[in-house]
Amino acid sequence: MELVEKFQEFKDYLRKIDYLSNALALAEWDMRVYMPKRGIEARSDMVTYISGEVYKLQTSDRMREYIEYFEGVSDLDDVMKAAVKNCRKIYDQTKKIPEDRYREFIKVASRSGTAWEEAKEKADFSIFQPYLEKVTEFKREFIGYWGYEGDRYNTLLDFFEPGITVEKLDEVFGQLKKAIVEILGKIQNSRVEVSTAVFSKYFPKQQQAEFNTMLLKKVGYDFETGRMDESVHPFTTDFGNKDVRITTHYYENEFRSALFSCLHEGGHGIYEQDIPDDLEGTLLDGGASMGIHESQSRFYENIIGRSLSFWKYFYPEIKRNFKQFDGLSLEDFYKGINRVEPSLVRIEADELTYSLHIIIRYEIEKELINGRVEVKDLPKLWNAKYKEYLGVEPSNDAEGVLQDVHWSDGSFGYFPSYALGNLYGAQFLGRMNKDIPDLFERVEKGDFEVIHKWLRDNIHRHGAVYEPSELIKTVTGEELKADYFIKYLYDKYSKIYEF
Ligand SMILES: [Zn+2]
Repeated sequence: MELVEKFQEFKDYLRKIDYLSNALALAEWDMRVYMPKRGIEARSDMVTYISGEVYKLQTSDRMREYIEYFEGVSDLDDVMKAAVKNCRKIYDQTKKIPEDRYREFIKVASRSGTAWEEAKEKADFSIFQPYLEKVTEFKREFIGYWGYEGDRYNTLLDFFEPGITVEKLDEVFGQLKKAIVEILGKIQNSRVEVSTAVFSKYFPKQQQAEFNTMLLKKVGYDFETGRMDESVHPFTTDFGNKDVRITTHYYENEFRSALFSCLHEGGHGIYEQDIPDDLEGTLLDGGASMGIHESQSRFYENIIGRSLSFWKYFYPEIKRNFKQFDGLSLEDFYKGINRVEPSLVRIEADELTYSLHIIIRYEIEKELINGRVEVKDLPKLWNAKYKEYLGVEPSNDAEGVLQDVHWSDGSFGYFPSYALGNLYGAQFLGRMNKDIPDLFERVEKGDFEVIHKWLRDNIHRHGAVYEPSELIKTVTGEELKADYFIKYLYDKYSKIYEF
């Protein structure tokens, strides 16, 4: 009994971190959705203060005592074990770095963000270069404090995708790259013409909002514990499982953007809404990892939302609501939303080429962290890889190496999660197809509850109790493989582009 009581005490302590983190998330949500421009300074001060309080709780002597106490107990259950392991990781992540070096890094990282903004605006890498050099140096130094096994980059990967290593990524990304380049070649030689002109007609915001809300309800996003607002870049946030919010951005001359971003964020949202109550207060009441989270959003956005079965069910609804599609067949609509075209910008990429954008970033980060390339070489290296893999070349650094914000604060190791989400998702689909042989026939009839239930029972209900590599093995019976996603891509695009 004593253990249970002690763990409850630990949970009460963690609950304080949870409350403050929710306050931060709420402040950030408001900042991106409603806050007037001039509120930024006061809000930043508030966020900095609360972040400092979170940091204190995470790294206190009391936290260390809890961690050490539970690490010495042998009969912890899975949830307790995972909670302690997670706190240990957060504790070590900051405590292993000398305080003055950490403070110095935070200063450099925030200036680096401003430099990145200016560099991107002026399409001039040289403005950002000295900052990125410093940030990179710090990260290399920190890896020394944190320690590493095998490749130095493994330590960074572990923050976002526990259990995934460079060895594993080289294997699965290597296979994936080869396959995508091959499929892309076949598509470029195909005589099938796919038009997307219809999506640029005028679609009033209100009309889109009504349709997308209906879609989200139908696939299982719960508006009783969620809401949808507008922001410049769509995102999902939550303050516990009873308040999970998504945002979208409407373009009145681009129908696909809000539609698929709603399904994407809806997938993230459904995951968070399904987290069981008893994980609240353990800091495990979220997704298993960034990559697993992406697997859920991409499952709804792509695997389901860009499938022919999905639109067999919803296209009549589209026809009823949007006169803009008069005269367009279901088949042409389906081809339109799945058109492949290599591009320079990651966030605008199609389902096939998206992973190549990520693999390029992964390859560069790995070399950079290991000191095999230097910051000054990045623009050249970036452009060469885009040319080689995608056949396109940036005309300036703003549409090349400067396009993403992630490197400015040293978030190396984060990008792979996006492509891992695709791999996890297709592997889950493989298992789901075995468990529910008539899966897509049900989708055609509008039965989405069967999918939601499978995801809830197999993935969502575990929160962050299991690491991604354990979860994928438990759910699918196999380690992470690229084969499922490759087969999925091949099947899909060979039909659309007739090869
Ligand atoms: Zn996402």
